[in-house]
Amino acid sequence: MASIRLKPGKEKSILRFHPWIFSGAIDSVTGSPQSGETVDVVDASEHFLAQAAFSPTSQIRARIWNWKADESIDQAFFRKALYRSISARHMENRPNGSSRLVYAESDGLPGVIIDQYGDTLVFQFLSAGAEFWRQEIVNLTCDLTGVVHAYERSDVDARKLEGLAESSGPLTKLSKVGPIQFVENDAIFEVDIEKGQKTGFYLDQAENRAQLRTLAKGRDALDCFCYTGGFTINLLKGNARSVTAIDSSESAIDQAKKHCRLNGFEADAVEWHEADVFRYLRELRDRNRSFDLIILDPPKFAQNASQIEKASRAYKDINLLALKLLRPGGILATFSCSGTLDGDLFQKIVAGAAVDAKVHAQIIKSFQQAGDHPIALFYPEAAYLKGLLLRSAG
Ligand code: SAH
Repeated sequence: MASIRLKPGKEKSILRFHPWIFSGAIDSVTGSPQSGETVDVVDASEHFLAQAAFSPTSQIRARIWNWKADESIDQAFFRKALYRSISARHMENRPNGSSRLVYAESDGLPGVIIDQYGDTLVFQFLSAGAEFWRQEIVNLTCDLTGVVHAYERSDVDARKLEGLAESSGPLTKLSKVGPIQFVENDAIFEVDIEKGQKTGFYLDQAENRAQLRTLAKGRDALDCFCYTGGFTINLLKGNARSVTAIDSSESAIDQAKKHCRLNGFEADAVEWHEADVFRYLRELRDRNRSFDLIILDPPKFAQNASQIEKASRAYKDINLLALKLLRPGGILATFSCSGTLDGDLFQKIVAGAAVDAKVHAQIIKSFQQAGDHPIALFYPEAAYLKGLLLRSAG
């Protein structure tokens, strides 16, 4: 088998079970491993460390499958890893449910993301190793879940870094297209797995949506960056007095209106605004509008570390505006899904916004991504979604 030997001292992170090997840590490669092929990883004294998938062009030159010399990386390995990950999601009694079944490095399957929406699976293969084993992974997952429809949405930039072209389309002969229905916390949603954002829906907010539903009763609520209405529907189900929702995407709002109807509400139960949130919050301020509950769930403003400063200004801007629109005693749920911007910095940005808005506020709770997007202790990079639930004292 091909192998990669590390430079002296570069084994430390691997001994702490971090799954990435950067190109700069490698002293030499023996054999001619192809993209995605399994290689042994050895330290400078040739001691075995791990087995990994080789990625010839990526800065992350190899991603570790296991730390065992006596277990091959083969169908049996993937069956075991997929079984462990999928069974932890307890989907067996929820045939119409939704869950992230596999969350890549955190589930021991670097580069593999699998979401289930009712009777359909959506796959992303984001690394050379994931790509190499794709067919095996699709077959095993269909087998383990009993789900027959499988679709690929590997149309993401991350593939380029791995030397892979974007790829999307049906993975199984039986694959169906068109809207897929599923249930999240007894609310009915649909995803467009062909054209929707990410794999179609933001499953990472499932638990936070449920929590906000419990806070909605009797409040005038504003859902900013509503997409297809994940929070909006929960605000309606939680008996908000009124719901206003903003998104810049016309097709997302159309789908959100459909979600209203699917859940027994009229589409005009919500005041919809197809608009830029930065601009529209100013308009609401100028019209002296105010709310008891505001949700800010923007897209990822910082794609990488070089964008943190610009992203910080954007987060501050929307938080400042939202805090000004909040009535005394009102609640703001504010999120960031920028992984490179950590929770401490996010809290400082929000605090800065509150100072400028002259609003005294308390943190009632911190939010994170749902439990089906786990954060492996040895791989803190998996944490990306953070949020604060604030109460304004006015
Ligand atoms: N809260 C949503 C997910 C939000 S995703 C849910 O629970 O499902 C981010 C959304 O922000 C996308 O729908 C995108 O269309 C929208 N968006 C991005 N930039 C925007 C802007 N400047 N103004 C308004 N909407 C924006």
